[in-house]
Amino acid sequence: MDSAPDTDAGGAHADSPHAGLEVLIQVRGLRKTFELPHPVLDRLRGRPPHRIHAVDGVCLTLRRGQTLGLVGESGCGKSTLARCIVGLMPPDAGQILYAGPGGTAPTDLAALDDAAWRPYRRRLQMVFQDPFSSLNPRQRVGDALTEVLAVRGLCAPEQRPARCAELLRQVGLTAADAARFPGEFSGGQRQRIAIARALAVGPELLVADEPLSALDVSIQAQILRLLLDLRDRLRLTMLFVSHDLRTVRYVSDTVVVMYLGRVVEHGPAAMVFERPRHPYTQALMASVPGVGALDAGLAGDVPSAIHPPSGCPFHTRCPYRMPRCVEEPPPLRDLGGGQSAACHLVGPDAVAAGEAGAM
Ligand code: SF4
Repeated sequence: MDSAPDTDAGGAHADSPHAGLEVLIQVRGLRKTFELPHPVLDRLRGRPPHRIHAVDGVCLTLRRGQTLGLVGESGCGKSTLARCIVGLMPPDAGQILYAGPGGTAPTDLAALDDAAWRPYRRRLQMVFQDPFSSLNPRQRVGDALTEVLAVRGLCAPEQRPARCAELLRQVGLTAADAARFPGEFSGGQRQRIAIARALAVGPELLVADEPLSALDVSIQAQILRLLLDLRDRLRLTMLFVSHDLRTVRYVSDTVVVMYLGRVVEHGPAAMVFERPRHPYTQALMASVPGVGALDAGLAGDVPSAIHPPSGCPFHTRCPYRMPRCVEEPPPLRDLGGGQSAACHLVGPDAVAAGEAGAM
Protein backbone atom coordinates (compact mmCIF):
# COMPACT_ATOMS: atom_id res chain seq x y z
CA MET A 1 0.00 0.00 0.00
CA ASP A 2 1.25 3.43 -0.85
CA SER A 3 1.64 5.75 2.00
CA ALA A 4 1.42 9.47 2.40
CA PRO A 5 4.76 11.20 1.89
CA ASP A 6 7.01 11.58 4.86
CA THR A 7 5.75 14.83 6.25
CA ASP A 8 6.88 15.59 9.74
CA ALA A 9 4.22 15.40 12.46
CA GLY A 10 4.65 17.02 15.81
CA GLY A 11 4.93 20.73 15.25
CA ALA A 12 8.27 20.75 13.44
CA HIS A 13 7.37 23.51 11.01
CA ALA A 14 9.20 26.76 11.34
CA ASP A 15 6.02 28.65 12.25
CA SER A 16 4.96 26.15 14.90
CA PRO A 17 4.85 27.56 18.44
CA HIS A 18 7.05 24.61 19.46
CA ALA A 19 9.61 24.94 16.67
CA GLY A 20 12.22 26.49 18.99
CA LEU A 21 12.38 23.49 21.32
CA GLU A 22 15.18 20.98 20.89
CA VAL A 23 14.23 17.78 19.09
CA LEU A 24 14.53 14.63 21.21
CA ILE A 25 13.17 12.03 18.79
CA GLN A 26 12.39 12.19 15.13
CA VAL A 27 10.48 9.30 13.58
CA ARG A 28 10.75 9.04 9.82
CA GLY A 29 8.71 6.82 7.53
CA LEU A 30 8.13 4.17 10.19
CA ARG A 31 6.39 1.01 9.07
CA LYS A 32 5.34 -2.06 10.96
CA THR A 33 3.34 -4.99 9.64
CA PHE A 34 2.30 -8.21 11.33
CA GLU A 35 1.99 -11.50 9.51
CA LEU A 36 -1.24 -13.37 10.18
CA PRO A 37 -1.20 -17.17 10.63
CA HIS A 38 -0.79 -18.72 7.17
CA PRO A 39 -3.57 -21.26 6.53
CA VAL A 40 -2.27 -24.60 5.20
CA LEU A 41 -4.49 -24.39 2.11
CA ASP A 42 -3.13 -20.96 1.21
CA ARG A 43 0.41 -22.22 1.71
CA LEU A 44 -0.20 -25.22 -0.55
CA ARG A 45 -1.64 -22.94 -3.20
CA GLY A 46 1.41 -20.70 -2.98
CA ARG A 47 -0.55 -17.70 -1.70
CA PRO A 48 1.47 -15.27 0.39
CA PRO A 49 0.43 -14.76 4.01
CA HIS A 50 -1.77 -11.79 4.86
CA ARG A 51 -0.18 -8.91 6.66
CA ILE A 52 -1.69 -6.25 8.90
CA HIS A 53 -0.36 -2.78 8.12
CA ALA A 54 -0.25 -1.50 11.69
CA VAL A 55 2.00 1.53 11.14
CA ASP A 56 2.28 2.82 7.60
CA GLY A 57 4.91 5.46 6.93
CA VAL A 58 4.53 7.56 10.09
CA CYS A 59 6.73 10.59 10.69
CA LEU A 60 6.66 12.65 13.86
CA THR A 61 8.86 14.80 16.02
CA LEU A 62 9.06 14.83 19.80
CA ARG A 63 10.63 17.91 21.31
CA ARG A 64 12.29 18.04 24.69
CA GLY A 65 9.92 18.89 27.50
CA GLN A 66 6.91 18.60 25.24
CA THR A 67 3.92 16.28 25.59
CA LEU A 68 2.71 14.82 22.34
CA GLY A 69 -0.77 13.30 22.42
CA LEU A 70 -1.29 10.39 20.04
CA VAL A 71 -4.97 9.70 19.37
CA GLY A 72 -7.02 7.40 17.19
CA GLU A 73 -9.54 4.62 17.37
CA SER A 74 -8.64 1.21 18.68
CA GLY A 75 -6.44 -0.60 16.14
CA CYS A 76 -5.19 2.56 14.41
CA GLY A 77 -1.57 1.66 15.20
CA LYS A 78 -0.85 4.12 18.01
CA SER A 79 0.26 1.50 20.55
CA THR A 80 2.37 -0.31 17.94
CA LEU A 81 4.05 2.97 17.07
CA ALA A 82 4.72 3.66 20.77
CA ARG A 83 6.23 0.21 21.26
CA CYS A 84 8.49 0.64 18.23
CA ILE A 85 9.74 3.95 19.61
CA VAL A 86 10.71 2.48 23.00
CA GLY A 87 12.32 -0.57 21.39
CA LEU A 88 9.79 -3.20 22.44
CA MET A 89 9.14 -4.02 18.81
CA PRO A 90 11.44 -3.70 15.80
CA PRO A 91 9.94 -1.69 12.93
CA ASP A 92 10.04 -3.11 9.38
CA ALA A 93 11.28 0.15 7.90
CA GLY A 94 11.94 3.75 8.76
CA GLN A 95 14.09 5.62 11.24
CA ILE A 96 13.81 6.58 14.91
CA LEU A 97 16.42 9.28 15.31
CA TYR A 98 17.32 9.86 18.95
CA ALA A 99 19.15 13.08 19.70
CA GLY A 100 22.67 12.65 20.98
CA PRO A 101 23.69 14.46 24.16
CA GLY A 102 25.07 17.95 23.68
CA GLY A 103 24.02 18.26 20.06
CA THR A 104 25.95 15.23 18.78
CA ALA A 105 24.62 13.40 15.73
CA PRO A 106 21.38 11.50 16.40
CA THR A 107 21.36 7.71 16.61
CA ASP A 108 18.92 5.70 14.53
CA LEU A 109 17.39 3.39 17.15
CA ALA A 110 15.60 1.41 14.43
CA ALA A 111 18.95 0.27 13.07
CA LEU A 112 20.34 -1.00 16.40
CA ASP A 113 20.51 -4.63 17.47
CA ASP A 114 19.58 -5.69 20.99
CA ALA A 115 23.02 -5.13 22.46
CA ALA A 116 23.40 -1.69 20.91
CA TRP A 117 19.92 -0.73 22.17
CA ARG A 118 20.81 -1.43 25.81
CA PRO A 119 22.21 2.00 26.74
CA TYR A 120 19.10 3.67 25.33
CA ARG A 121 16.57 1.55 27.19
CA ARG A 122 16.89 3.52 30.38
CA ARG A 123 16.27 6.80 28.57
CA LEU A 124 12.99 5.64 27.02
CA GLN A 125 10.49 4.12 29.42
CA MET A 126 6.91 3.04 29.04
CA VAL A 127 3.90 2.92 31.35
CA PHE A 128 1.25 0.45 30.24
CA GLN A 129 -2.51 0.35 30.41
CA ASP A 130 -2.70 -2.60 32.78
CA PRO A 131 -0.22 -2.14 35.63
CA PHE A 132 -0.92 -5.58 37.09
CA SER A 133 0.24 -7.41 33.98
CA SER A 134 3.52 -5.49 34.03
CA LEU A 135 4.29 -6.40 37.67
CA ASN A 136 5.41 -9.78 38.99
CA PRO A 137 2.74 -10.76 41.56
CA ARG A 138 5.29 -12.85 43.50
CA GLN A 139 7.87 -10.12 43.81
CA ARG A 140 7.76 -7.53 46.58
CA VAL A 141 7.57 -3.98 45.29
CA GLY A 142 10.91 -3.07 46.84
CA ASP A 143 12.58 -6.06 45.19
CA ALA A 144 11.11 -5.11 41.83
CA LEU A 145 12.52 -1.60 42.11
CA THR A 146 15.87 -2.82 43.45
CA GLU A 147 16.14 -5.27 40.58
CA VAL A 148 15.76 -2.45 38.05
CA LEU A 149 18.45 -0.43 39.81
CA ALA A 150 20.77 -3.45 40.01
CA VAL A 151 20.31 -4.52 36.38
CA ARG A 152 21.06 -0.99 35.18
CA GLY A 153 23.90 -0.58 37.69
CA LEU A 154 22.35 2.68 38.83
CA CYS A 155 23.43 2.92 42.43
CA ALA A 156 25.57 1.08 44.94
CA PRO A 157 23.83 -1.87 46.66
CA GLU A 158 23.79 -0.12 50.03
CA GLN A 159 22.05 2.92 48.53
CA ARG A 160 19.29 0.98 46.83
CA PRO A 161 16.80 0.77 49.74
CA ALA A 162 16.95 4.54 50.15
CA ARG A 163 16.49 5.05 46.42
CA CYS A 164 13.49 2.68 46.45
CA ALA A 165 11.94 4.65 49.31
CA GLU A 166 12.53 7.90 47.41
CA LEU A 167 10.89 6.48 44.26
CA LEU A 168 7.86 5.28 46.21
CA ARG A 169 7.45 8.66 47.89
CA GLN A 170 7.79 10.36 44.50
CA VAL A 171 4.67 8.53 43.28
CA GLY A 172 2.66 9.10 46.46
CA LEU A 173 3.36 5.78 48.25
CA THR A 174 5.40 5.16 51.40
CA ALA A 175 8.73 3.50 52.09
CA ALA A 176 6.86 0.76 53.99
CA ASP A 177 5.06 -0.21 50.76
CA ALA A 178 8.34 -1.72 49.52
CA ALA A 179 7.64 -4.82 51.64
CA ARG A 180 4.23 -5.48 50.07
CA PHE A 181 3.24 -7.52 47.00
CA PRO A 182 1.45 -6.01 43.97
CA GLY A 183 -1.75 -7.90 44.79
CA GLU A 184 -2.05 -5.97 48.07
CA PHE A 185 -2.50 -2.68 46.24
CA SER A 186 -5.45 -1.08 44.46
CA GLY A 187 -5.38 -0.51 40.69
CA GLY A 188 -4.36 3.12 41.10
CA GLN A 189 -1.58 2.22 43.53
CA ARG A 190 -0.30 -0.45 41.14
CA GLN A 191 -0.13 2.15 38.39
CA ARG A 192 1.90 4.32 40.80
CA ILE A 193 4.30 1.40 41.31
CA ALA A 194 4.61 0.93 37.54
CA ILE A 195 5.39 4.63 37.19
CA ALA A 196 7.99 4.40 39.98
CA ARG A 197 9.65 1.51 38.17
CA ALA A 198 9.76 3.51 34.94
CA LEU A 199 11.26 6.48 36.79
CA ALA A 200 13.86 4.33 38.58
CA VAL A 201 16.18 4.47 35.57
CA GLY A 202 15.94 8.24 35.09
CA PRO A 203 14.28 8.35 31.65
CA GLU A 204 14.18 11.34 29.32
CA LEU A 205 11.08 10.13 27.51
CA LEU A 206 8.07 8.60 29.22
CA VAL A 207 5.64 6.85 26.90
CA ALA A 208 2.27 6.46 28.61
CA ASP A 209 0.09 4.03 26.66
CA GLU A 210 -3.53 4.42 27.79
CA PRO A 211 -2.27 4.78 31.39
CA LEU A 212 -5.74 5.59 32.77
CA SER A 213 -7.95 3.19 30.81
CA ALA A 214 -7.86 0.31 33.29
CA LEU A 215 -8.54 2.53 36.31
CA ASP A 216 -11.73 3.62 38.05
CA VAL A 217 -12.88 7.04 36.92
CA SER A 218 -12.39 8.35 40.46
CA ILE A 219 -8.70 7.35 40.35
CA GLN A 220 -7.94 8.52 36.82
CA ALA A 221 -7.64 12.19 37.76
CA GLN A 222 -5.18 11.37 40.57
CA ILE A 223 -2.89 9.36 38.27
CA LEU A 224 -3.10 12.01 35.58
CA ARG A 225 -2.12 14.71 38.08
CA LEU A 226 0.77 12.55 39.24
CA LEU A 227 2.02 12.06 35.67
CA LEU A 228 1.85 15.77 34.93
CA ASP A 229 3.51 16.68 38.21
CA LEU A 230 6.37 14.23 37.53
CA ARG A 231 6.67 15.44 33.96
CA ASP A 232 7.13 19.00 35.14
CA ARG A 233 9.36 18.26 38.13
CA LEU A 234 11.64 15.83 36.27
CA ARG A 235 11.47 17.70 32.95
CA LEU A 236 10.32 14.63 31.10
CA THR A 237 9.29 14.51 27.48
CA MET A 238 6.05 12.59 27.18
CA LEU A 239 4.27 10.63 24.49
CA PHE A 240 0.72 10.23 25.73
CA VAL A 241 -1.24 7.57 23.85
CA SER A 242 -4.98 7.65 24.41
CA HIS A 243 -8.41 7.31 22.87
CA ASP A 244 -9.75 9.81 25.41
CA LEU A 245 -9.81 13.17 23.68
CA ARG A 246 -10.60 15.17 26.81
CA THR A 247 -7.48 13.90 28.52
CA VAL A 248 -5.33 14.37 25.44
CA ARG A 249 -6.52 17.94 25.15
CA TYR A 250 -5.68 18.55 28.80
CA VAL A 251 -2.15 17.15 28.75
CA SER A 252 -0.80 17.75 25.24
CA ASP A 253 1.23 20.50 23.64
CA THR A 254 0.89 18.88 20.24
CA VAL A 255 -1.49 16.25 18.93
CA VAL A 256 -1.08 13.59 16.28
CA VAL A 257 -4.23 11.92 14.95
CA MET A 258 -3.81 8.46 13.44
CA TYR A 259 -6.14 6.51 11.21
CA LEU A 260 -5.39 3.05 9.86
CA GLY A 261 -1.70 3.29 10.62
CA ARG A 262 -1.19 6.75 9.15
CA VAL A 263 -1.01 10.28 10.49
CA VAL A 264 -4.02 12.18 9.14
CA GLU A 265 -3.61 15.39 11.13
CA HIS A 266 -1.20 16.95 13.57
CA GLY A 267 -0.43 20.28 15.09
CA PRO A 268 -0.47 22.33 18.27
CA ALA A 269 -3.19 20.91 20.53
CA ALA A 270 -5.10 24.19 20.72
CA MET A 271 -5.30 24.42 16.91
CA VAL A 272 -6.25 20.81 16.31
CA PHE A 273 -8.96 20.91 18.97
CA GLU A 274 -10.31 24.35 18.11
CA ARG A 275 -10.11 24.04 14.34
CA PRO A 276 -9.66 20.46 13.18
CA ARG A 277 -9.08 20.33 9.42
CA HIS A 278 -9.25 16.64 8.51
CA PRO A 279 -12.79 15.22 8.19
CA TYR A 280 -11.84 12.36 10.50
CA THR A 281 -10.57 14.71 13.20
CA GLN A 282 -13.65 16.88 12.72
CA ALA A 283 -15.89 13.88 13.29
CA LEU A 284 -13.99 12.99 16.45
CA MET A 285 -14.15 16.47 17.86
CA ALA A 286 -17.82 16.93 16.95
CA SER A 287 -18.90 13.65 18.47
CA VAL A 288 -19.46 15.03 21.96
CA PRO A 289 -19.88 18.66 23.01
CA GLY A 290 -16.56 19.85 24.26
CA VAL A 291 -14.79 16.84 22.75
CA GLY A 292 -15.82 13.26 23.21
CA ALA A 293 -15.66 9.58 22.52
CA LEU A 294 -13.70 8.40 19.54
CA ASP A 295 -16.25 6.01 18.17
CA ALA A 296 -19.14 8.43 18.12
CA GLY A 297 -20.33 10.41 15.11
CA LEU A 298 -18.65 8.24 12.50
CA ALA A 299 -20.57 6.04 10.09
CA GLY A 300 -19.30 2.53 9.44
CA ASP A 301 -16.46 0.55 10.90
CA VAL A 302 -12.75 1.10 10.56
CA PRO A 303 -11.72 -0.80 7.40
CA SER A 304 -9.49 -3.84 7.61
CA ALA A 305 -5.82 -3.11 8.10
CA ILE A 306 -5.14 -6.30 6.10
CA HIS A 307 -6.68 -4.83 2.96
CA PRO A 308 -6.61 -1.08 3.59
CA PRO A 309 -8.63 1.10 1.20
CA SER A 310 -6.94 2.56 -1.87
CA GLY A 311 -6.25 6.28 -2.01
CA CYS A 312 -7.25 8.07 1.17
CA PRO A 313 -7.59 5.51 3.97
CA PHE A 314 -10.63 7.41 5.31
CA HIS A 315 -12.56 7.42 2.02
CA THR A 316 -14.90 4.56 3.01
CA ARG A 317 -16.31 6.68 5.86
CA CYS A 318 -15.79 10.21 4.69
CA PRO A 319 -18.88 12.35 3.96
CA TYR A 320 -16.84 14.51 1.53
CA ARG A 321 -15.40 11.64 -0.53
CA MET A 322 -14.61 12.48 -4.18
CA PRO A 323 -13.49 10.19 -7.04
CA ARG A 324 -9.94 11.44 -6.51
CA CYS A 325 -9.99 10.22 -2.91
CA VAL A 326 -10.38 6.60 -4.02
CA GLU A 327 -7.37 6.80 -6.33
CA GLU A 328 -4.87 9.14 -4.79
CA PRO A 329 -3.51 9.12 -1.22
CA PRO A 330 -3.48 12.70 0.05
CA PRO A 331 -0.14 13.88 1.44
CA LEU A 332 0.09 15.69 4.76
CA ARG A 333 -0.15 19.34 3.78
CA ASP A 334 1.23 22.18 5.82
CA LEU A 335 -1.64 24.46 6.82
CA GLY A 336 0.44 27.01 8.71
CA GLY A 337 1.07 27.47 12.41
CA GLY A 338 2.44 23.94 12.69
CA GLN A 339 -0.84 22.29 11.69
CA SER A 340 -1.02 19.73 8.85
CA ALA A 341 -3.69 17.43 7.51
CA ALA A 342 -3.78 14.68 4.88
CA CYS A 343 -6.89 15.50 2.87
CA HIS A 344 -7.45 16.65 -0.71
CA LEU A 345 -9.79 19.32 0.63
CA VAL A 346 -7.15 21.23 2.55
CA GLY A 347 -3.99 23.07 1.65
CA PRO A 348 -2.98 25.38 -1.17
CA ASP A 349 -4.15 23.16 -4.06
CA ALA A 350 -7.33 22.04 -2.32
CA VAL A 351 -10.51 21.65 -4.33
CA ALA A 352 -14.02 22.25 -3.05
CA ALA A 353 -15.92 19.00 -2.63
CA GLY A 354 -18.61 20.14 -5.09
CA GLU A 355 -16.07 21.09 -7.76
CA ALA A 356 -14.41 17.70 -7.56
CA GLY A 357 -17.68 15.81 -7.63
CA ALA A 358 -18.37 14.58 -4.12
CA MET A 359 -19.66 11.01 -4.23
FE1 SF4 B 1 -9.99 11.56 2.46
FE2 SF4 B 1 -11.17 12.70 0.41
FE3 SF4 B 1 -12.39 12.63 2.77
FE4 SF4 B 1 -10.27 14.18 2.40
S1 SF4 B 1 -12.24 14.37 1.37
S2 SF4 B 1 -10.62 12.83 4.14
S3 SF4 B 1 -9.05 12.98 0.99
S4 SF4 B 1 -11.87 10.89 1.52
